[in-house]
Amino acid sequence: MTLNETEQVVTRFAPSPTGFLHIGGARTAMFNWLFARHHGGKALLRIEDTDKSRSTQEAIDAIIEGLDWLGLDWDEEPVFQSKRADRHAEVAHQLLADGNAYKCFATPEELAAMREQQKADKKPMRYDGRWRDRDPSEASEGAPYVIRLKTELGGKMTVTDAVQGEVSVQNSEIDDFILLRSDGSPTYMLAVVVDDHDMGVTHLIRGDDHLNNAFRQLAMIRAMGWKEPVYAHIPLIHGNDGAKLSKRHGALGVDAYRDMGIMADAMFNYLLRLGWGHGDDEIISRKQAIQWFDLSGVGKSPSRFDAKKLQNLNGQYIREADDDALVELSAPWVEAELGTKLSVSDRDLLAQAMPVLKSRAINIIELASNSLFLYKNRPLDLDEKAQLLLDADARQLLATIHSKLIDLDDWTLEATEERVKAIAEAAELGLGKLAQPMRAALTGSTSSPGIFDVLILLGKEESLNRLADQIK
Ligand code: GLU
Repeated sequence: MTLNETEQVVTRFAPSPTGFLHIGGARTAMFNWLFARHHGGKALLRIEDTDKSRSTQEAIDAIIEGLDWLGLDWDEEPVFQSKRADRHAEVAHQLLADGNAYKCFATPEELAAMREQQKADKKPMRYDGRWRDRDPSEASEGAPYVIRLKTELGGKMTVTDAVQGEVSVQNSEIDDFILLRSDGSPTYMLAVVVDDHDMGVTHLIRGDDHLNNAFRQLAMIRAMGWKEPVYAHIPLIHGNDGAKLSKRHGALGVDAYRDMGIMADAMFNYLLRLGWGHGDDEIISRKQAIQWFDLSGVGKSPSRFDAKKLQNLNGQYIREADDDALVELSAPWVEAELGTKLSVSDRDLLAQAMPVLKSRAINIIELASNSLFLYKNRPLDLDEKAQLLLDADARQLLATIHSKLIDLDDWTLEATEERVKAIAEAAELGLGKLAQPMRAALTGSTSSPGIFDVLILLGKEESLNRLADQIK
């Protein structure tokens, strides 16, 4: 696709607000946003809420929130398709006035009979153009009608798609579809074309489930003499088993991934590489994505969603993330667990623990829950495994450790480690045999950051007190 240098790129994301922002929608939104940003153009948002029975305010909110979370911003206020019905009707009437559309007075019964006949004759079921050449005066006075587009009869139509290449259909396969219903309301097909034109959209990047619509939309665009946009139909996302992505594969709204502790940047990076690539690069920053994104990098075959890979990538993002940013993200989880707000010193402690915590967590929830031991009140409630671990022998061992640590003044990683190792050697035990009961006593559980990190983060006094609580 060569771009006219002087033409400003305008893309749009046009979700139907009938549910949450799913993975596929989020990726489509990202591709549109990136393409516009890459070309210094405009990215627009249009809410396709014409189907009033299926569109909800909750869905609109969820979509906008999901886009916001991913860091996708839009250059103008969102356009609500439902508010533009008059304009859609105006275009239908213009097509009618120009002779590119016509009134069809066929009744529903008549059309049902037509389809029955086509079915019996094993012919494709489509409108047969029965009012195409009839004069409206042949209809009875005041009879309801729809407005249909007068499509080409012979030859074929070709869409040159930036992802799919040249795709053609025989014009005979495209019937004279409805633009305006008998109640005067626009069809979806009409609304999309009018809105894209009025919004100045130059590039239509969307799922390839809309490729078939492109032919009908193009027929309308040509009838109006409007400039044709560049189409880019991107392959849908499949599940790990190769089947179309569904709930069964854990395909959830992006909000669900946020609630699972996935970082927005990791999600962005993961979705970016789902269907688009830049060599072998795996970690791609937002800045690089804008710099590199182009339609030529979009693959032709469906990509597979792999929740495990997303988790792994998220772990990489956590390890690279700024400690303060991680405190911001994990504090709400910690507060929810504790049932109380973190004080300034609590937050400082979280920040102090962050280098240790982030080295092992693959999501923000894990990060947060690994920090909870810091805030527990003495005497600690031990979880079941920790209780089992602390038998009489283990408690005896804790008493020894306590007595040897009490006179250690240099409370550092190195010094505590040296001292505990000496105890292990003297007792002819592996370090693990000491670390386990210590962990149980210090954190109340059997999994935690490294035991010496725990000693340092808790400090000497708190550590010794927690150990003492379990002796006796
Ligand atoms: N509203 C349509 C959808 O959510 C998209 C239409 C389009 O991109 O042309 O699938």
